[in-house]
Amino acid sequence: MRITFLGTGTSHGVPMIGCGCGTCTSSDPRDTRLRPSIYVETPAACVLVDAGPDLRAQALRHRIARVDAILFTHGHADHILGMDDVRRFNALMSGAMPCYGDAATLDDIRRMFSYVFDPATPKGGGLPQLDLRQIAGGFTIGDLDVVPIPLDHGKRPILGFRFGAFAYLTDCSRIPDSSWGLLEGLDVLVLDALRIRPHPTHFSLDEAVETAARIGAPRTFFTHMCHDLLHAATDARLPPGMALAYDGLALELP
Ligand SMILES: [Zn+2]
Ligand SMILES: [Zn+2]
Ligand SMILES: [Zn+2]
Repeated sequence: MRITFLGTGTSHGVPMIGCGCGTCTSSDPRDTRLRPSIYVETPAACVLVDAGPDLRAQALRHRIARVDAILFTHGHADHILGMDDVRRFNALMSGAMPCYGDAATLDDIRRMFSYVFDPATPKGGGLPQLDLRQIAGGFTIGDLDVVPIPLDHGKRPILGFRFGAFAYLTDCSRIPDSSWGLLEGLDVLVLDALRIRPHPTHFSLDEAVETAARIGAPRTFFTHMCHDLLHAATDARLPPGMALAYDGLALELP
């Protein structure tokens, strides 16, 4: 299994529009962060987790020409606004795109892209073909076993996903008691770490480090980071086995 980080930034992206801070003006490529998404490849499945507003740029950069399904963590703009670019994958894959999410996320997609689901909208090249599938427990895409991990994003319940010994937990501020058992025996954990200061709907860096230590995966990468976190300086201070992810980072897992 190969995991590629397509974007590791928060909803604004880094650099942020109109900001001249040290991170936003950094020449370190790891300080340029597109909106959060990963691409998961196995011998029989190619899957996106989330489809944010940078999907087109991400697909071009990584020459992604195959997507068998999209898994959605939740319906916030930075995770679903790439839906219009699914049209290219409809053409490349000759069919509607299976889109997996919980009930609230699928409702968000139906509302934000209401024209797609309105029978009165003229058909043609302007509409992505979306096959919305509500998640109810674990499921399989090709040879990829998907385990949904319920998370709290502030007061909003959302989903993380586990594939084998890898887990991707973006946009969370708390792991519900019932989800800890789903996170045992990981090799690699990816966890939300928005910024230094506390935030009502995201783990701060300190909270993320504490949570990652409790989960105890040998390797942890942080994501969904804002411009508070200058890559080199922040990374150097992290405990052993923990690191900031960056756009383009790729991991090979057995
Ligand atoms: Zn900045
Ligand atoms: Zn969110
Ligand atoms: Zn987000």
